[in-house]
Amino acid sequence: MFETLSDRLSGIFDKLTRRGALSEADVSEAMREVRRALLEADVALDVVKSFTDKVRNRAIGAEVVKSVTPGQMVVKIVHDQLVEMLGSDAKPIDLHAVAPVPILMVGLQGSGKTTTTSKIARRLTERDRKKVLMASLDTRRPAAMEQLKILGEQNSVDTLPIVPGQTAVQIASRAINAAKLGGYDVVILDTAGRVTVDQELMAEVAEVKRQTNPHEVLLVADALTGQDAVNTARAFDEQVGVTGIVLTRVDGDGRGGAALSMRAVTGKPIKLMGVGEKSDALEDFHPSRVADRILGMGDIVALVEKAAANFDADQAAKMAKKMQKGEFDLDDLAEQLRQMQKLGGMSGIMGLMPGMGKMKNQIAAAGFDDKHIKRQIAIVQSMTKKERAKPALLDAKRKRRVAAGSGTDVSDINKLLKMHRQMADMMKKMGRQKGGMLGKMLGG
Ligand code: GDP
Repeated sequence: MFETLSDRLSGIFDKLTRRGALSEADVSEAMREVRRALLEADVALDVVKSFTDKVRNRAIGAEVVKSVTPGQMVVKIVHDQLVEMLGSDAKPIDLHAVAPVPILMVGLQGSGKTTTTSKIARRLTERDRKKVLMASLDTRRPAAMEQLKILGEQNSVDTLPIVPGQTAVQIASRAINAAKLGGYDVVILDTAGRVTVDQELMAEVAEVKRQTNPHEVLLVADALTGQDAVNTARAFDEQVGVTGIVLTRVDGDGRGGAALSMRAVTGKPIKLMGVGEKSDALEDFHPSRVADRILGMGDIVALVEKAAANFDADQAAKMAKKMQKGEFDLDDLAEQLRQMQKLGGMSGIMGLMPGMGKMKNQIAAAGFDDKHIKRQIAIVQSMTKKERAKPALLDAKRKRRVAAGSGTDVSDINKLLKMHRQMADMMKKMGRQKGGMLGKMLGG
């Protein structure tokens, strides 16, 4: 179902993650491509818009974790937003009610309602050891009642005996009574479908719902019908009220838009998905697993999560203390520079934040661009331990030695020392205001 979208997205993010640094333009371009890919996958326009807006906002507020690249960070943000769009947590069928728990199945004809009814019944019987009764309320198509009966026999699930001439409501109350008398845990009511949403269908379903007070009302929708499935779900929810959605034919080669828009448009969770014609082809809908499948970048997501978990809180606390006391020495400076380097330089960090790309020139002028960072680290490495701890020791002779050792000029050494002095001063000031912004930026 998600192959095409998945291919498109991995193409976009492969490009992004192979780069060390990212500019604002790189991120904007990637977001434009993501937008196009989602629209082509038949995701509703306003859902796409809200998705890309949220990704952008998250990128601005993101705390960049050390040891990952900005591109990897963007992938993680897109992944998290996808999970949110799909509904965050898995929402299984809720059976926490007095037995027999009534479940009402609603949807259009041909959506897979009857098949799904028996799939759910089979799973509740086999996996959850529940005693389940199924009943077809389709009074217009005797074949539908027959179909459910046969499916019940095939899967060893009981069905309510067929009594011709009863209305849907009559069959429903008979089913609930039979379930009570027979000691059933769950009773699943398979309502009649129509080719399109019409008033007569809605009125009948609403009446059955009123009479049976179901604990779950599951809307079955065919994923292959894309936006139509989403519109059908919305209509049923508005007119009858549903508690969850079962998406069928997810095994088909649809474009995935229905799965992606469903939650955002209807506000109702996708609880299950049908992945084949067989009676066991039913899966729980796990937003994070589906997002992994769509993005195909599980490695990177795991890497970013690990890096975030390994974020060295001790080191950060030590650094914050040093800053407060004004003990920020050249070793600390080098350490901060190294961390920036890992993140693709200051321009890489800034590039991740839309609107910050324009600051690139100022960053370069301040000696924070990638090439400069390397040179500055080399300078610090050419100093002795004592010099690094106490920069005042660096007289003209020592400076010449360090310059020769790092392949730079004495003027470069002076620039670095000046930068260090300014940073140390600034940090002392900011350190006094707890959790200063610079400390955060430097990973402190
Ligand atoms: P109803 O009219 O809504 O009750 O639809 P049915 O349950 O009769 O299903 C219509 C057709 O869709 C049948 O041939 C089913 O086998 C098929 N079907 C249902 N769910 C799935 C699914 O998840 N995947 C596939 N490939 N086919 C399905």
